[in-house]
Amino acid sequence: SIASRDIATYLHSYTNLKKHETDGPLVVNGGRGIYIQDEAGKEYIEGMAGLWCASLGFSEERLVEAAIAALRRLPYYHTFGGKTTEIGVDLAEKLLSTAPVPMSKVFFANSGSEANDSVVKLVWYYNNALERPAKKKILARTKGYHGVTVASASLTGLPNNHRDFDLPIANIMHVDCPHHYRFGEPGESEEAFATRLADNLEKRILAEGPETVAAFIAEPIMGAGGVILPPAGYFEKVQAILKKYDILMIADEVICGFGRTGNMWGCQTFGIKPDILVCAKALSSAYLPISAVMISEPIYQAMVRQSEKIGVFAHGFTYSGHPVSSAVALETLKIYEERDIVGHVQAIAPKMQKWIRSFADRPLVGECRGTGLIGAIELVADKATHAPFDAKLGVGAYLAQRAQEGGLILRAMGDSIGFCPPLIITGDELDEMFRRFDKALGETE
Ligand code: PLP
Repeated sequence: SIASRDIATYLHSYTNLKKHETDGPLVVNGGRGIYIQDEAGKEYIEGMAGLWCASLGFSEERLVEAAIAALRRLPYYHTFGGKTTEIGVDLAEKLLSTAPVPMSKVFFANSGSEANDSVVKLVWYYNNALERPAKKKILARTKGYHGVTVASASLTGLPNNHRDFDLPIANIMHVDCPHHYRFGEPGESEEAFATRLADNLEKRILAEGPETVAAFIAEPIMGAGGVILPPAGYFEKVQAILKKYDILMIADEVICGFGRTGNMWGCQTFGIKPDILVCAKALSSAYLPISAVMISEPIYQAMVRQSEKIGVFAHGFTYSGHPVSSAVALETLKIYEERDIVGHVQAIAPKMQKWIRSFADRPLVGECRGTGLIGAIELVADKATHAPFDAKLGVGAYLAQRAQEGGLILRAMGDSIGFCPPLIITGDELDEMFRRFDKALGETE
């Protein structure tokens, strides 16, 4: 069987390896709209758009055609030594035209992790260019998620990504997670919580020495950390401090970008003015791997001066700006525009958010949260104190498993259950998704 061959050969990403030897895989062989199909032909609603990425669902023919046409025209070329392709330039122009603040240049990579890894290097290169060799520390946040390569996993603020991998690397450190429900003090308003976190950030910068702190990286909404929304006023307060100490703001829009929060960018939803913006996933609706880093003009100018001094800017991947991925991304952006995907999210988000909040009174449900077409329900042992379940119980994973049996793929991040369906989901499909969730929740209670 495929399952036994999988167990014999495959090292799975983000999987309990021992358990997999007995449980085996879910074999996914097809997709249609918001649904995927397993090898027996059973259909599941993909409530997470795969890994927060397949925004146009699983059967968008135009993306298939764009890939085929690009493969026929020029299946591969690179961007080293000043080479380029028209499709790559088209995509760079398109991305810059949508940026939430004026951006100067785009660097392409293949995944969110590679893009964030590149950002770490760009920040260091930039400060070397400015002859500030000490200004190298990058502040990330506990529970943030930025990927799994050595530098990106260091930025990630989740214990499992560090433990036994000998991470984080030097010069990457973590500050407070902005989860009001979990870390707010009794009676503390969101605004007061945001002020406290911003004060802590400033204290940390002063303790490290502002001349040593180069950048701060944040997802507008933390995704893999459990869909954590910033408390009211958070980014405004944080950015005022970053500005005071000449620290770059990096927005990791890998999940939030391209309409997910009800605007083109999460930065617009939360008033973030980034110096560097990272995107991936929905950039190509995940049909082919591609990610992008947009940088501001001052950063670019410093880099140019440095490159002039030392010769080449020695960074880039074999597949940076791959013409086939670029063509699929460009077509994806065209579809978003033609179908007004942001307008669709705005129209349908109230229904999704109402559904999420409709579970608030259920016995296991602590917090219901979200905006746009992203959200989570956090399960707790004690609704009054917010006390979590013992992690060993695996309550979230149990619920996700019940949902899967009932034809709905969701993701348990600890005991937070994420919802991030394809952006093309209709109102009726949302209703069906939450009916299936309701059943799974009932079975878990
Ligand atoms: N940044 C964020 C916010 C993400 O959610 C992810 C992946 O989930 C990444 C970066 C890493 O992207 P990739 O898995 O493509 O390396």
